[in-house]
Parts: sequence; structure tokens; C-alpha cells
Amino acid sequence: MARTDLDALALNALTLEQKASLLSGRDFWTTKPLEEAGIPSITLCDGPHGVRREAGGSDHLGINESIPATCFPPAAAVGSSWDPEVAARIGAAVGREGRALGVAVVLGPGVNIKRSPLCGRNFEYYSEDPLLSGVLAAAHVAALQAEGPGASVKHFAANNQETERMRVSADVDERTLREIYFPAFERVVTQARPATVMCSYNRVNGVHASQNRWLLTDVLRREWGFTGVVVSDWGAVQDRVAALAAGLDLEMPGTGGASDRRIVDAVRAGDLDEAVVNASVRRVVALTERRGGVSGAFETDAHHALARELAAECAVLLKNEDGTLPLSAEARIAVIGEFAVRPRFQGGGSSHINATRVDAALDAIRALAPDVAYAQGFSLDGSGDARELREAAAETAASADVAVVFAGLGEREESEGFDRETIDLPAVQVELIRAVAAAARRTVVVLSNGGVVSLEGWHDDVDAVLEGWLLGQAGGSAVADLLFGVVNPSGRLAESIPMRLKDTPSYLNFPGEAGHVRYGEGVMVGYRYYETVELPVRYPFGHGLSYTTFAIGGLTVVRTGDDRATVTVRVTNTGDRPGKHVVQVYVSTAAGPVRRPVRELRAFRKVSLAPGESRTITLPLDRRAFAYYDVPLGRWVVAQGDYTIQIGENASSVVAETTISLDGDSLVPVVSLDSTLGEWLSHPLAGPALLRVLSGGKGARPEEDDENGLRMASSMPMGRFLTFAGIDIPHATLRELVELGGSDGAAA
Ligand code: BGC
Repeated sequence: MARTDLDALALNALTLEQKASLLSGRDFWTTKPLEEAGIPSITLCDGPHGVRREAGGSDHLGINESIPATCFPPAAAVGSSWDPEVAARIGAAVGREGRALGVAVVLGPGVNIKRSPLCGRNFEYYSEDPLLSGVLAAAHVAALQAEGPGASVKHFAANNQETERMRVSADVDERTLREIYFPAFERVVTQARPATVMCSYNRVNGVHASQNRWLLTDVLRREWGFTGVVVSDWGAVQDRVAALAAGLDLEMPGTGGASDRRIVDAVRAGDLDEAVVNASVRRVVALTERRGGVSGAFETDAHHALARELAAECAVLLKNEDGTLPLSAEARIAVIGEFAVRPRFQGGGSSHINATRVDAALDAIRALAPDVAYAQGFSLDGSGDARELREAAAETAASADVAVVFAGLGEREESEGFDRETIDLPAVQVELIRAVAAAARRTVVVLSNGGVVSLEGWHDDVDAVLEGWLLGQAGGSAVADLLFGVVNPSGRLAESIPMRLKDTPSYLNFPGEAGHVRYGEGVMVGYRYYETVELPVRYPFGHGLSYTTFAIGGLTVVRTGDDRATVTVRVTNTGDRPGKHVVQVYVSTAAGPVRRPVRELRAFRKVSLAPGESRTITLPLDRRAFAYYDVPLGRWVVAQGDYTIQIGENASSVVAETTISLDGDSLVPVVSLDSTLGEWLSHPLAGPALLRVLSGGKGARPEEDDENGLRMASSMPMGRFLTFAGIDIPHATLRELVELGGSDGAAA
């Protein structure tokens, strides 16, 4: 029987060499077995929107063919579903396929925040918002793991670009890490308990993530209670011994024994505690419990149908003038653009799935409407004469009631491994859209792109825009279902669509220089920035239209403690079709000593409503919904103050709001001689006492002149203020004051 739970006796029976051997891969995708000890090898493989189980050559760039598996919508699309149910159904299906293919760990999901639209891997990430990313990823992980295989939430941490990804240092202040870049990981770890966490390639504030003790041990294990295996991103280990000591258990892929020898030598030389090796061995052996073997089979047809159903939940209807959509099956339709026959449905790189089949939108449209003409419009490989293709398309469009242009980014334009330099659509497509829009009665644009593309230069010329992202192998049929209203669009943007690349908050600090990328925008990422500085975007975070209409009413917010509340709101489908609405709850506050974004998403729920149906939704807002991360105190703090709870149609349009006051945390500030005079004066005990001393015992209120003087000096550290103003407070009195301020009087 295979051994997966290593007791002390069994551990002691292993030699140091045997133990070290368990801590790196046998090859690209498997771990080393230790048959004599009953420890099996397990297989890890890429995901997360499908299983990339390589049977022949191995690589981490999606180059070699893998065994056919269902390609579900990638995370960029799932983000726009705003529905944890969608994420969970994908997770479960991928789990079933992984099990059927004998996979113990399906790598992913990726929960890195979309800091810049240029990141080449944004199609693999959910959102610019940490709550949305975390909720969706946690649902995916829990459902995947319930089927047997483990997940590997990645890439921990601050891996928000591909440029120099293996060595760049992401220089990020702690509050920003805690409030923006960590919460999705934290939620997945604490709520879904992933079997593994994958460290990122990059450095974080100068230290490689793979050997960053603060990240891998202090935050991940001590604070969040992670008990699983930390695995390296493929090839992320710089110094194996330092990595192990920092908390990285399993190095992948294997290094032919070189890393194992380094571990053995370090222990023998007294540079590495054998207890560290033992702890990692225990965790890796526990992971082999998921070895699973090949069990169950998956229904390719059923999973394809599921991929179609879920893809339709993800596309976002951005614009729909005069009810252009849904299309009537009786209309004369011109389908234009090569993407309609050769769909782009997933991104390039390690997550590339060998799909079991692929639906083309043109076929699916023809299955729903009899009168459909097609023109190529442009060529994906650059062949042919662009002008001729465009003119032929405009001619086809002119004789139809409505033209549907399939535009987007080709595989060469975005992928893992490099970042984009522009957010523009290829010029040839922009020209095509404009030419078609000029010729057609009505024009609809359907987009396929992993990262955000600009709509400028053509948006106002067209009647409707459906942002399809990359929708997986059944995306073509899902798009047809949406265009004809078989399914009512319900996606909402999980990232803002800016007017210009130059408007994006990280523009001046992306992708960095001289080995460093400075996260200068801090917590002001995505809509947090646009809303705070009131910069218009083409479409805000959370935007998305439907073929029906909704009304929001009856907002009530009830305080349920000093630092929490419950929100209740009624949603009504006021149109004549069934549809889904996303209730978005934002919190807006200026409370506390830090600069806060004007509003932040703190809860959401997607609801399905029949025509005329109303539903009352109650969403709890926990402590974290109001908190900021206080770096000097090293913890989350809810400041006393006013908090406005806003129901957003999207991040920039508030449809209802109400303000509550929270007592927050009763923090008695600590002041020392390094604290400013202002901080002293606002201290409840030390402040009045100091005023008494300064006024020579006359009382707590200084004369008006003195008060102005005090205000001017309020940013001076107390010690220096006293010296500067020539105030000689007797040592014993000073000591008493410092003690009243909560500091150690001996320091005075
Ligand atoms: C990617 C990971 C992936 C791994 C294995 C790396 O290059 O960054 O996301 O899981 O390769 O293919």
C-alpha cells in the first residue's frame, strides 16, 4: 500500500538523500517515487480552464500537443461572469477530466491582479479587483478539489507582467500588497484550502518569491494558516537551499538530482536544519494522497455543452443602440471577419489546451438563421490584399440588414511570455469595422481578445458591441446564442476599458526599468484610480447590458457591530425577458489616516429573474469590507467614521446609497518622542497633559496665539520640537508624559 501519511518513525527510516529526493521533480511533470518507502510519484499538469496533460514531449509553453481535453472559458471570461457558480462548474469539470487523465494536481487558477492592460497573461487572470478574483478562484478551487485533484493557486506574488518575469523586482509597499495583490490568494487559501500554492518567478521588493521567507512562511503559513505544499513556478528556483529554508517545498521541474545534492550538502555542512527538510517532506508526501490514478471518464459531449452554456454567461454586451441586438432569425445577416470561421478562444503558453472540438460562430449562426452571407474581411496571417478584402466585406454588408463583424487579437498579439505594447486593435481591423459600418444599415462588433482592447476610433460608428473575451472551445456557439437572444447576456466587465493607454494608472511605471518595476500607483489600481481622480473611461468596471431591464430599490443597511453591517436591496426585472443582474455593493469612505480609493467593491451577487420578478438580496459586509491595512500597526484596522454603502450599476454609476457610522476599532494611539506634536495633541491622555505642561499649568486650553503656533509646529517630532522651541521639561515630567502616551517612559 502506498504511504501518504509519514509518521515520525517512517521519516526517521529515510536517509537524508531519500528525503531530499522527494523535494524536486523526477522530470517535467512528475514527482519522484520512493518505492521502498511506499511513496508514489504524482503527476502535475497545467490548467486551469482545461487539462493540459502532455503525453509526449514536455514543455511549459504550450508547444507540444497534449491529450485532448475540454477547453472551458479562460479566467478573463470567467471574471466577467461575476458568478462563482460558473467558476465552480468549470473547476468541477476540469477536476473530473484531471481525474480521468490521472492527474494529481491541475495547476491554477491564476489570481494575479490586472495591474496593466498590457500584461500578456491577463487572459489567464480574472480581474483588476481582488474581491472578484478571490471569490471566483475560491469557487474554482473548492469544486476542482472536491473531484480529487489538487489545485495550485498562482503566481504568488506580485507577478503582474511578463516582461523580465524571471528576474524583475516588483517594488510594492506593504499596504498595497495587503489590500490589492494578496487578498485573492488569502481568500483562496483560507476558504478553499488549495493543495498547493505556486510561487512566482519575479522578485518581490528585491527578494525572489521562491526564496522569500516573509511571503512563503510568515504570511502564507503563519498568518493564513496554509498547510499544503508550496511549489515553484517551473524553473523559478534561484537558490535551492535558500528557497527551502524560506518555505518552498517542491521544486519543479526536476534538476536531475543537482538540487537534491545541494540540500544534502547544506544539511551536512550545518547550513540548513534537517527539521526544515523533514517538514517539507511531510507536506510533499501528504500531497501524494491525491495521486488518484486514472479514475472515471468524462463525457466530451456533455462537457462541450457545459462549455457552451458557461461561455454565454461570460460575454459582456457593451453597447446596444436601438435594440440592434438580439438579431432576428429572419434578418439578412452579413457575417464578416475571419475569426467567425477560425475562432480565437484561448491564450497562448502554458495554459493552452488541445480542445476536443471547436465551434465556429459562422456555423452556429447559420444553424439559427437561414439568410447569412460571409466575407473574410481581413486575413489573420496577413495574406491577401487588405483593401480588396475590406471592399468585398463592405459590399456584402451593404446588401444585408445587419453586419456582424468578428474582430479581435490574433495569437501573435498576446501570449504568456511577453507583454503587449499597445491596446489597439490591428489597424487593418479598425479600417474594416469603419468601412463596414459606413456601408451597413446596422453594425454589430463581436470581440475576441484576452486583454482589454481600445474601442476608440470605431466605437461611435457601430450600433452594438459584444465583448467576448476568449470563450473557450464552444465560444462560437455561445456567441450565436447571445446574438439571437437564445441566452440573455449577463456578463459585467471585470476590468475597466480605458479611453487611452496613457490613462491607465500604471502607465508611467510599466513594465519598469533597470530590473525594477515600481508599483507607484499603490492601491489605486483599475477603477479605484479612475473613480478617485474622476478620469472618464470608455466603459467602467462592472458595466454590462442585458436584453431586459432591472430596477434597484429598498436599500437598507444595518450595523451588526462596531465594524460590520448587512446590506439588503430589492432587484426587479422590469423588462419582458428572463435575465440576470449583478448586484454590486461598493463602500466609500475617507475614514482613517490613509488615502482611500473613492469606492471599493465589497460584495456582489448575480441573480436570475423572470420578467416582472423581484428578489430581496441580503449581503453581509464583514470587518474587512471597511478595513484598511495599517502598516505601522501591522494589522487591519477599521477606523471610526462614516461609511457610505453604494449600490453600483457599475463602478462609476451609483444607483442607491446610504451612510452609516461605525465606531471601528478602539485604538489608543501610542506616542513617543518620535511622534509629532500633532499626534501628541490628539492623544486622549497625553495630549491634555502636554498642554497643561506647556501652558505652565494654567489649564488645558492655550491662548489663541499659542494655538496657532502649535498648529504650525504640529508636524515636528516631539523631541525636536522641544529642543527647537527651547522648552525644558523636567525629565521626570517628560517620563510621565511618555508613559501616558503608552510608550516606555525609560526611552524619554
Ligand atoms: C508558468 C506557470 C505554469 C508552469 C508550468 C510556467 O512558465 O508561469 O503558470 O503553470 O510554467 O507549465
